[in-house]
Amino acid sequence: MKVLVIGGGAREHALCRSLSQDPSVTELHCAPGNAGIAQVATVHPVDQLDGAQVVDLAAKLGADLVVVGPEAPLVAGVADAVRAAGIPVFGPSGAAAQLEGSKAFAKDVMAGAGVPTARSYVCTTPEEAAEALDAFGAPYVVKDDGLAAGKGVVVTSDRAAALAHAASCERVVIEEYLDGPEVSLFAITDGTTVLPLQPAQDFKRALDGDEGPNTGGMGAYSPLPWAPAGLVQEVLDTVLQPTVDELRRRGTEFSGLLYAGLALTSRGTRVIEFNARFGDPETQVVLARLRTPLAGVLLASATGTLDQLEPLRWDEGAAVTVVVASEGYPAAPRTGDPIEGLAEAEADGTAYVLHAGTKADQDGRVLSAGGRVLSVTATGADLAEARERAYAAVDRISLKGGQHRTDIALKAATA
Ligand code: AMP
Repeated sequence: MKVLVIGGGAREHALCRSLSQDPSVTELHCAPGNAGIAQVATVHPVDQLDGAQVVDLAAKLGADLVVVGPEAPLVAGVADAVRAAGIPVFGPSGAAAQLEGSKAFAKDVMAGAGVPTARSYVCTTPEEAAEALDAFGAPYVVKDDGLAAGKGVVVTSDRAAALAHAASCERVVIEEYLDGPEVSLFAITDGTTVLPLQPAQDFKRALDGDEGPNTGGMGAYSPLPWAPAGLVQEVLDTVLQPTVDELRRRGTEFSGLLYAGLALTSRGTRVIEFNARFGDPETQVVLARLRTPLAGVLLASATGTLDQLEPLRWDEGAAVTVVVASEGYPAAPRTGDPIEGLAEAEADGTAYVLHAGTKADQDGRVLSAGGRVLSVTATGADLAEARERAYAAVDRISLKGGQHRTDIALKAATA
């Protein structure tokens, strides 16, 4: 099978790494990729938001499967263009990706499907926003309606800050605050059959102890030893399957990766958000534990044959990923700094480095090229071992001004 992956972050590096280990994959390509992906796939300089360019490349390569990683190309309709060209594609249509692209659309679908989520109002004026904030009280949750790479959400007890964020967005969703731990649960679907993966938890805030601003994600781990037994089945029955069925009923069939961000509140499980693609950094730990070769699973989604797939096989152990971000991330990331110690980090074979914002210069040196730079990932018999290995590898890497959290999976590993 010839596979083309679209994207260039650590999530796509994780996808490419798994695909490169799948014996059924004979050729692996990625566009645009990054310096790390170039070590496992052939990379192509293509504008990932341009459906015509992606289709041209896929046709030229004779790709049997195109896997669209990030949300932006999905919302831009890149999967539609590939599908229209008759090439199997893993990823939803632009219309179905509105489940992530518009929080208001997601709320409407959840209401139609009877899926439990936070009560909310959609507001377009400061007056409406103020009224909605006061209806729920503090802490306030204000979400930009559009795509914001995980950074459009403000959770604060400061009413003025909540109002200011609302005023900076064209349309906002203001909702009740959900307490309780968060879980990310991914499912692969072909529009009808829904196959949940293993749950993971990510760390959204920039600093230790969940302090600092929201980011795209600073680390993740799987499994969740503290999660209630039966959680995956419950979420499949009450969230994932009803949502997929509702979208099909509306004529916006969703195939690809459905990501449920959940809060396990004192009043039950609630959906915080949906995403229309693999989450980054949770993908790094979920795929680290998946034993079933990945390409066949993604192809079954693309061709509507998930019901014929054998049950997925999982590693019983644990995986931890720690994100190394550049100085100034998330507000003003500094780029262009050399990264040292990448080979040393992988030398003892217990951890591996997935690249996010990196690029190679003319001399082959790897430079930082984005906010999140690396996802350092390790597996182990349990979370404590995986954590130790991931942090030992992080310690061997140097990036000027680089930052990472030191408490990824700490509570879960020591509980
Ligand atoms: P989202 O982009 O919707 O996932 O929001 C980003 C982060 O903001 C989530 O992972 C939560 O930590 C937080 N958040 C979002 N909505 C709520 C809510 N209703 N109550 C509490 N925290 C929330």
